[in-house]
Amino acid sequence: MSCLFCQIVDGSVPSKAIYQDDKCYAFADIKPVAPVHILVVPRSHIASTAHAGGEHKELLGHLLLTAAEIARSKGLEQGYRTVINTGDDGGQTVDHIHVHLLGGRHMAWPPG
Ligand code: AMP
Ligand code: ZN
Repeated sequence: MSCLFCQIVDGSVPSKAIYQDDKCYAFADIKPVAPVHILVVPRSHIASTAHAGGEHKELLGHLLLTAAEIARSKGLEQGYRTVINTGDDGGQTVDHIHVHLLGGRHMAWPPG
């Protein structure tokens, strides 16, 4: 098992847990780029949105709604950003699909 986020999900690589349920796990990003920077990942391995199919519809929706729920719990009433990077051009560095939840500061647009 060489996938970093699978190892974080199974506990063999330590992480700071924020939320978990039977489908997903949320933990603090090790290199935060905003006051709140949390990653929400499915417990099952899906490499990226490019590898997801119709069978993952409900799970992908669950990841987004979980990010929104965590944002509420963190008091991000002013807003926040959810990001899913896909592939090399998308800036994806860990090949296990993850939603970044970024908040606590104003986000610029367009992204770099
Ligand atoms: P991406 O570039 O979209 O694939 O995002 C990968 C994210 O994982 C980056 O924001 C990294 O800082 C984060 N990351 C890498 N290793 C760890 C780790 N061991 N624990 C928590 N976050 C990590
Ligand atoms: Zn994985």
